[in-house]
Amino acid sequence: MAEDTLFAKIVRGEIPADIIYQDELVTAFRDINPAAPTHFLIVPNAIIPTVADVRAEHEPALGRMFVVARRVAEQEGLEKGFRLVVNCREHANQEVYHLHMHLLGGRPLGPLLVQTP
Ligand code: AMP
Repeated sequence: MAEDTLFAKIVRGEIPADIIYQDELVTAFRDINPAAPTHFLIVPNAIIPTVADVRAEHEPALGRMFVVARRVAEQEGLEKGFRLVVNCREHANQEVYHLHMHLLGGRPLGPLLVQTP
């Protein structure tokens, strides 16, 4: 396939992942290197490289990502709250160029950003 990503391979079941939810639009799976006690990634099944590539036609999948975030948060008992993060390109340290929402929780998460010089 000309255009492919690590997360597209997870969506297609070609590489293993701890998938907690999947439907025709989105897939949610546990982050391999968790930054909090609960850390899931929610991705559109179709490849959208970054938020800067989002188009109107992506709205159903992007909306579904929030619905799934709420479901996963409920399932994981995150009633005290959680954080959703979407990194976009270099300044945000995006590593995988397949748009994804991080769902983080399970402890107080502190301020949004750590100050860097
Ligand atoms: P980002 O820096 O926003 O692009 O985040 C990429 C995330 O993907 C990181 O939190 C990684 O730990 C996670 N990750 C990388 N490879 C895998 C994998 N095979 N399965 C699950 N999560 C992964």
